[in-house]
Amino acid sequence: MESQARELRCIDCGATLPLGYTLQCPTCGGLLELSYDADALRRRGPSAFTGGGLWRYAPVLPIADPAHRVSLGEARARCSTARRSAAASGCGGSRSSSRAAIPPAP
Ligand SMILES: [Zn+2]
Repeated sequence: MESQARELRCIDCGATLPLGYTLQCPTCGGLLELSYDADALRRRGPSAFTGGGLWRYAPVLPIADPAHRVSLGEARARCSTARRSAAASGCGGSRSSSRAAIPPAP
């Protein structure tokens, strides 16, 4: 699903700007927040977020051009049951996640 971000909106003065790599309002210096096509996101629900890695959140990221997406090959962390840890701590159940498949930051 393409990005549903539509514009940037100043949280202080309400000015709107086209999507871009801007963090501050040029009018008042306030912070900018993303404005979305909320109806499109609501219609799709959780099914809007498919795939793996960071880019499964593409519908809520302000990167409209897929050519600007960068990936280090990251993936979802796998969860597994930690039986020995649960037994040692006396908890009924414990889960852990491994980030071994996620490459370190450069
Ligand atoms: Zn402003």
